[in-house]
Order: sequence, then structure tokens, then C-alpha cells
Amino acid sequence: MRGLDPRIHVLLEPIRTKEGVDGRDKPGHDGFHVPERDMTHDDLKQTMIWAGKVLVDEGQDDFTRGHISVRVPGDPSRFYMKPHSIGLDEITMDNILTIGLDGNVVAGTAKRHSEVYIHSEIFKARADVACVLHTHPPYSIALSATGRPMKAYSQPGALFHDSLGLYDDTINLIRSPETGAGVARALGPRRAVLLKNHGVVVTGASIEEVVISTIMLENAAMIQMIAEAAGTPAPEFPLADIQKLKHDISRPEQFKVNFDYLVRRAKRRG
Ligand SMILES: [Zn+2]
Repeated sequence: MRGLDPRIHVLLEPIRTKEGVDGRDKPGHDGFHVPERDMTHDDLKQTMIWAGKVLVDEGQDDFTRGHISVRVPGDPSRFYMKPHSIGLDEITMDNILTIGLDGNVVAGTAKRHSEVYIHSEIFKARADVACVLHTHPPYSIALSATGRPMKAYSQPGALFHDSLGLYDDTINLIRSPETGAGVARALGPRRAVLLKNHGVVVTGASIEEVVISTIMLENAAMIQMIAEAAGTPAPEFPLADIQKLKHDISRPEQFKVNFDYLVRRAKRRG
């Protein structure tokens, strides 16, 4: 909270209490529903591999930086994670690491990302989170640098209404359990958190949800930056209108349908 524009505090206020139509919108919580799918470990790893290719197709790559993790089915104390030194589109069945909540590698021989603590500390803090993604998308970083809160200037912007935290302790890498816990605190019960002047961390109940949310976050930030650069944007729609849209576009099937489309597109491109 050091030295920030006071308007940024809007981002960090507790989420308003409200009753969602299907119970997703619990007070102070984005309320992820763990999908009732019977995925094998290999299916999950394969989805992570395609997620990496889709993310690169969507401009979420930054050399070999950025990492994705997913909780091991049936063992919430472990997660699968992309290794260090490769691009997001170079994840394979053989190089995926299995890691414990202490950040130590349990299985796999590849090098571990030093920022593993972003993942381990969020998995510790949020039992509802099954997938964590960290990337460096340019418009989201630019928005974080302005200190201005995310606004519902677009449909993807509505997804992050009251659902975006801000971590501003450091611009440096998150290389310790302590700083990882700081990111988890800044995330709180929300969907995502901006790491000021660094990147984004997005969470969800599935890989599909996290990948599509991350693409939507960057799209929302881009539209907001364009709108604000063009002048003073007109007022947002009323809160109830924004909340209805947020609910409608938060349905798990929406994330799956759009993720599956991006995978089919990636396969066609070869
Ligand atoms: Zn980073």
C-alpha cells in the first residue's frame, strides 16, 4: 500500500455481500466451483500442455517467463507445474514437475521456477483454487503501473468487477514463501491479482477457467487503457447490470467452450 494513488484502494476493499443466483457469489468470495469431471492425471497434464500453446498464441508469453500449475487430483497437497527454462508452449508430459505445498519438487527432473511460492502459497490459502497462472501481459502491467482500478468498460472488464487485487510490496521476483504469502494475501478471495509493474496472477477451479480469465483480463486492461487514453470515459453501467453480466460470463461452461475453441484453433495451426 506504499505510495499508491488513493483511488487504488477501491481495488482492495472487501467484496460486497451479495447472493448469487446459483450461490457462486458468496459474500467476499468469487466462489469457484470445482468441476465435477473425472479427469485422469494424464488428461490434466495434456490440458496443461494445450493451455501453454493457447497462451502463447494469445500473446501471454515473455521469453521463458510465466508459469502455470494445477492441483493434483485427489491430493490437494501437491500440484503439477511447468518447469523453468522452457516456453509456455514447450510443456510436455515428461517435463511437468510435481511439487508439494512447501515448494519442494516431489517428482520430475527439470529445473523448478524460483517463483514457485506464488503457486504453493495460493494453494495453501485457497482450497477452492485448482489452477494458478502467472504471466507478464503488457496491458495488464501497464494498468498496474497507473495505479488505477479496473473498470467495467467492457464485458471482460465486468468479469473482474470487485475481483482484482493489487500486490505492491515489490517489483522483484516472488522467490520466498513470505513474498508468496504476500501475493496470496493481496489476492484474498478474488479471481486475480495484479503484481504492480510486474504481471498478473489468475486463479480458478480449472485450467480452462484460468486461461480464459487471463486472456479476458488482458483484453479488459487493453480496452480500459485505450478508453482512458482517449479522454474521460463515460460512467459505467449501474452495479446491478454489471453484476448480472459478471454472473453470466462466470459460468464454468463458458470457460470450457472458449478454451476448447482456442485448442481446436491451435491444432489447426499445427
Ligand atoms: Zn513474473
